[in-house]
Amino acid sequence: MSDVTKILPGATLGILGGGQLGRMFVVAARTMGYQVTVLDPDPNSPAAQLANAHICADYTDQNALDQLAATCVAVTTEFENVPATSLEYLAKFIPVRPSATAVAITQDRIREKHFLQSSGFKTARFASIENSQQIEPAVKHAGLPALLKLSRSGYDGKGQKIVHTLLEAQQAFQDFGAQPAVLEELVAIQTEISVVIMRGVNGSSVAYSPSENVHRNGILDIGIVPARISHALAESAIQAAQNIAELLEYCGVLAVEFFLTQSGELLVNEIAPRPHNSGHYTLDACTTSQFEQQVRSLCGLPPGDVSLCRPSVMVNLLGDLWGGDLGSENRPPDWLKVLRYRQAKLHLYGKSEARAGRKMGHYTCVAERVEDALSVALKIQQSLMMPPI
Ligand code: AMP
Repeated sequence: MSDVTKILPGATLGILGGGQLGRMFVVAARTMGYQVTVLDPDPNSPAAQLANAHICADYTDQNALDQLAATCVAVTTEFENVPATSLEYLAKFIPVRPSATAVAITQDRIREKHFLQSSGFKTARFASIENSQQIEPAVKHAGLPALLKLSRSGYDGKGQKIVHTLLEAQQAFQDFGAQPAVLEELVAIQTEISVVIMRGVNGSSVAYSPSENVHRNGILDIGIVPARISHALAESAIQAAQNIAELLEYCGVLAVEFFLTQSGELLVNEIAPRPHNSGHYTLDACTTSQFEQQVRSLCGLPPGDVSLCRPSVMVNLLGDLWGGDLGSENRPPDWLKVLRYRQAKLHLYGKSEARAGRKMGHYTCVAERVEDALSVALKIQQSLMMPPI
């Protein structure tokens, strides 16, 4: 007997957002025989280049949402900054996974932090700031130096500023347009890790091996898997991620970022209601990628195998490598520097304009031992940073 709750290949899936995460979702879905419609206002959307259809409109456009609901059997999202109200609207007609409620919590740092705190998860000491009168008490609570982070729309270190004095905190709050923000203690970090999980419609979840993440200027630079941490620590990060997903009644792929402090404490930094940059290694080092898991969870299917086939190191390729902000003048790096290594897998996102800090692609090196993958990955990274002869 067929199971009507399962969406099978041949059906059309929708996705809000058409960046690189959407693009990799499209590849996974189309590989499995689904059709995909992307809703994204960018006419050059990386995901739309590979999708069956592109609705080029704003995420709040009523006609566009109606069209998506009429032509797709289920909808997901590739990033947390889509308006939760659009997801709520779509959910009246078709399954939306993850839910508007889960996205609404994770797209707002203040709500997310309060959710984590009230659920008993450890986070960096923080205080929310909604108006200038709250800055001084927030500084007293979080201590100095601290990080001021915009509550909404910040990503990849954008909308964040380190402040050393009350005056700097006040200035930063004004510079960010006096928008709601959180002030967070500056944590002495030993290592950063993240866990990507898939939680299905039936509430059971599977977790990938945690990634050890190295950031540069607030942007993920390198992801090392397996993370070089103890088994017990990896297990408690996985448990925390699964508990968070359960409390959110989550369906879909979810990533949780953690700080391991110098004193050995595991703090939750943030939650992403979607596949994550640090989970890109699953494309080349696991049987099932995080994007296939997103398709599976959206379609009510059981999870695929999450085991790690081989250790891997993923390196992001930012627009800086194209010559930064040179506009139409920028030149792609010499890809032979990556492709000459049999251990390296290159992924480019189809973005025509390279800007400093913009994620243009990544490569992943896989090897028998993590130190070998790391050594090739770093060798490639160094050669890419050298100017062309
Ligand atoms: P976020 O956007 O919150 O993930 O921050 C981006 C990066 O900035 C993190 O991955 C850390 O490397 C760094 N960072 C963020 N918050 C803190 C903090 N409270 N203390 C120290 N470093 C932080």
